[in-house]
Amino acid sequence: PDAPRQDFIRQIVRSDLAEGRHAAIRTRFPPEPNGYLHIGHAKAICLSFGIAREFGGLCNLRLDDTNPAKELPEYVRAIQEDVRWLGFEWAELRHASDYFEVFYLAAEKLVRAGHAYVDDLSAEEVRAYRGTLTEPGRNSPYRDRSPEENLDLLRRMRAGEFEDGSRTLRAKIDMASGNINLRDPALYRIKKVPHQNTGDAWPIYPMYDYAHALSDAIEGITHSLCTLEFEDHRPLYDWVVERVDLASSPELLEPLRAAGLPVQAGRPRQIEFSRLALNYSITSKRKLMALVQEGLVDGWDDPRMPTLQGLRRRGFPPGAIRLFAERVGISKQNSVTDFSLLEQAAREVLDAEAPRRLAVVDPLKLVIANLSDDHAEMLTFANHPKNEAFGTREVPFSNALWIERDDFMREPVKGFHRLVPGGEVRLRGVGIVRCEEVVTDGDAVVELRCTLDADTRPGMPGADRKIKGTIHWVSARHAVEAEVRLYDRLFSVPDPDADGDYHQHLNPEAKRVVRGYVEPSAAGLEAEAHVQFERLGFFIADRRDHSPRRPVFNRIVTLRDTWAK
Ligand code: ATP
Ligand code: MG
Ligand code: MG
Repeated sequence: PDAPRQDFIRQIVRSDLAEGRHAAIRTRFPPEPNGYLHIGHAKAICLSFGIAREFGGLCNLRLDDTNPAKELPEYVRAIQEDVRWLGFEWAELRHASDYFEVFYLAAEKLVRAGHAYVDDLSAEEVRAYRGTLTEPGRNSPYRDRSPEENLDLLRRMRAGEFEDGSRTLRAKIDMASGNINLRDPALYRIKKVPHQNTGDAWPIYPMYDYAHALSDAIEGITHSLCTLEFEDHRPLYDWVVERVDLASSPELLEPLRAAGLPVQAGRPRQIEFSRLALNYSITSKRKLMALVQEGLVDGWDDPRMPTLQGLRRRGFPPGAIRLFAERVGISKQNSVTDFSLLEQAAREVLDAEAPRRLAVVDPLKLVIANLSDDHAEMLTFANHPKNEAFGTREVPFSNALWIERDDFMREPVKGFHRLVPGGEVRLRGVGIVRCEEVVTDGDAVVELRCTLDADTRPGMPGADRKIKGTIHWVSARHAVEAEVRLYDRLFSVPDPDADGDYHQHLNPEAKRVVRGYVEPSAAGLEAEAHVQFERLGFFIADRRDHSPRRPVFNRIVTLRDTWAK
């Protein structure tokens, strides 16, 4: 395994623990349930859950459901399934909406203390008053309302008396701040939209920065790890945590205690790291959703998709994704990660874990003329070349085989060491055959008639006779027909979004479906079983469509990187 992890966040955690700043650490992973998780989220999951595990702490899964218009229970379920599939278990499952009452009481506290006010400016006016990077903003004419008036208006907002968008609750910070996030940001908006968790209970919803900071404080999160785009929000995060100061107002947490939810209340620290960006891919829920909605892929779990559901269906083992995340590492530098790093992690994990089988995906008939038509025998094959624990299996062999069409060349190019007219090749586990006759139909080669040199069979004196090529095969009489889905990268260029139109760069070769043949013991594998089809790559029995009578295999990766320049 790789060296112990030493990124800057783990160093902070280690020294916080060494200096006794926390008895135990607590982290969280806070996805918004507005789509499916993708490989970028896997980096964040491996970090927050991984750190909790390594340092004997706990990690919560928190669904950040503060924007009801785009959230669905379907996504809530899938997120939980994906986190578990990746190999992590949460200490507690929470919803930001569990805290709506606390957020509201905290807002009243801010209003009473003069730290927040109800503003009647429209969204457009708020924008106009906000100023720009070079110009300070202007105070809203409603900024100096008395705490009493603000409290009355806030309560009426909560009671549903006002129209959507007619008022907001804003933090009173500094309209001249160099950080635009501190120019009196909105804390609440009016939005009469039903919520997937709270139904029609709330006509107002908290804004992300406010809800996120308070959720972390309520759960006693010690290290709140998020991506770099939140760096400029950190002063607001700290402002919310400090002004609300849960420790000095235990009554704010009463609704949670009454509901039986354990609360740990503390002072969280936000730490930012760089997002994962993967070439030949896209890591944005919104853009992935567009591919699904436009029918350019077959759903969220299309094996070409970089969603966790897609990667799972494609066959990437969860351990490979964790290994990938570990190798990508954690830093504050934005960079683009090469897709081959993910493929290489899959090869390494699968090489150790996947049993070997024989399959042919582009079949050409090979008949062994010096064996009788009813010849049939069982050959014993090792299931793994490097690990005897995988055991052996019996593979049926007969006089009629399927081999790969590209293992034969009628007019061989220089350096081609497989089968040619009049030439010899070793059939894996069988012995050396010579191609005596090429049967054609017009230009097409339809069958090769060969003779097997009996002296080269295993155990015979000539078994070790030197020959350059070895090819794989399956017995035509015994093999099971299979649908084989040959997948590749979703996009054909490294930066599909460079010109703003990633639709133009979908890789037409990303999915090819062929009819092939697999040895009987491969057909019998269970759905989601991994396998290496020798010389072809690593495959998985499709999670949804595979059955022993109608086998369906997805190619995860080829055995070698075919994209390297
Ligand atoms: P998207 O832009 O794809 O919608 P998001 O950041 O809006 O992503 P959230 O559901 O809010 O999605 O993400 C949950 C957590 O996952 C956040 O803490 C976020 O920082 C992290 N995350 C999202 N995308 C990435 C990424 N590409 N790399 C690392 N972490 C990510
Ligand atoms: Mg988000
Ligand atoms: Mg987003």
